[in-house]
Amino acid sequence: MNKQIEIVENDITKLHVDAIVNAANSSLLEGGGVDGAIHRAAGPKLLEECRTLKGCKTGEAKITKGYNLYAKYVIHTVGPVWQGGNLNEDELLSSCYKNSFRVALENGVHSIAFPAISTGAYSFPFERASRIACNVTNEFLKNELTMEKVFFVFFSSKDFLSFIKIAEQYF
Ligand code: ADP
Repeated sequence: MNKQIEIVENDITKLHVDAIVNAANSSLLEGGGVDGAIHRAAGPKLLEECRTLKGCKTGEAKITKGYNLYAKYVIHTVGPVWQGGNLNEDELLSSCYKNSFRVALENGVHSIAFPAISTGAYSFPFERASRIACNVTNEFLKNELTMEKVFFVFFSSKDFLSFIKIAEQYF
C-alpha cells in the first residue's frame, strides 16, 4: 500500500489533519449524516461561515475554517444523489474528489481526510463510489508530491473492510 494512503475506521471529526472533507448538501446548511456530525463538532461558527458561501453545486467544493475541530479547514463538497447511474453520477462524484484536492492544494493542505461521499443518504453504490475515490486519488498522487497523507474514513467496520479490499487493487 502507498504510504501516502491511510484507511481508518473512525469518526472523521476526531482526526488530526489539515483538512477534513464534508459530504454536504447544496445549501451548505442543515445536513444530517457526516455533515451534522461535522457541524456539531466544529460549533456554530461553521454554520455562520457556510451561510456566507451561498451554497455549492454538485461536484464542486468550497473551503471554510475548522473552528473547534482539530482540522484547520473543512472542505465542503456536494456529492451526486444516486439515480440509477445514467445521470452523470460517476463524473460528478469524480469531480467531488478532484475539486476537493484542488481546493486543498490552493490552501496549503498537506493532509486530508475523506468520508465515503454520497454513499449514505445519497445512496451511491458503495463499491462503485470506492473505485471512483481510489481512481481519482491515484491519478492525483502521481503528479502531486506535496500531499503527504490522504485518509479515507469509514464510520462502520463493514465499509472499512470493504474499502480496504478495493483499495488494495489501486494503491
Ligand atoms: P451523503 O449525503 O453524501 O450520502 P452521508 O453523510 O449521508 O452523505 O453519508 C456519507 C458517509 O459518511 C456514510 O458512509 C456514513 O456512514 C458516513 N458517516 C456518517 N457520519 C460520519 C462521521 N462522523 N465520520 C465519518 N463518516 C461518517
